[in-house]
Amino acid sequence: MGELQVEKHVKYILAVEKRKDDFESVVMEHLRLNGAYWGLTTLDILGKLDAVDQDEVISWVMQCQHEDDIAGLQNEDGSFSGDMWGEVDTRFSYIAICSLALMRQLDKIDVGNAVKYIVSCKNVDGGFGCTPGAESHAGQIFCCVGALAITGSLHHVDKDLLGWWLCERQVKSGGLNGRPEKLPDVCYSWWVLSSLILIDRVHWIDKEKLAKFILDCQDKERGGISDRPDDAVDVFHTYFGVAGLSLLEYPGLKPIDPAYALPVSVVSKVILGK
Ligand code: ZN
Repeated sequence: MGELQVEKHVKYILAVEKRKDDFESVVMEHLRLNGAYWGLTTLDILGKLDAVDQDEVISWVMQCQHEDDIAGLQNEDGSFSGDMWGEVDTRFSYIAICSLALMRQLDKIDVGNAVKYIVSCKNVDGGFGCTPGAESHAGQIFCCVGALAITGSLHHVDKDLLGWWLCERQVKSGGLNGRPEKLPDVCYSWWVLSSLILIDRVHWIDKEKLAKFILDCQDKERGGISDRPDDAVDVFHTYFGVAGLSLLEYPGLKPIDPAYALPVSVVSKVILGK
């Protein structure tokens, strides 16, 4: 299966970060903050955050801040809209709850109502969808279980039922898919694995085989990780691959928090002030 190519992945991420003016960067402009999060968090997990100019990153991130606030996007039923255009989805519930918890400002929203809305998106298979009645999907399950974990509401999850649905996402190659009959994909190493950890059912999958699948998705020459072996690499899958390996306790990686999707050291510093 080979080792994790730490130095090559660092080089790959730094090269993507510098490529600000080419065609792909312009087209992907709206995703650039996400790209910064994926790239910086990967570097931190790899213990290489000092490879970037932190002052430059901070001043660039600060330029992206608007006057409006997260709490204003909560709707009467407890759900959250993504922006002023009003699309509602449990992804936005997670982002709102996670961000406000990191800023220690959960008191700015109606947490009880937010939890009630997430619970209304629970399905008979134990999973969660993007809105009430919508099909269960591993990405959405992470958002809902993560938000319930942050708000201390995991008692709303049927852990055995959801645990079964999640562990059935592992296919023969060791990789995980997001829904029944779909191909395995490295990014689900995060969505499925973090959810299994949060509900204490991670021992229901073959962790060694999953680690092998992730390592097989590396570009061993130029760095980066792809969605599945031999596909083109990107920062998104590089982050979720490394984060997945961190959850699997791969040697030398910083531990990542399964609910906040940030290194444990960052979460304790920001939330607990340690
Ligand atoms: Zn993917």
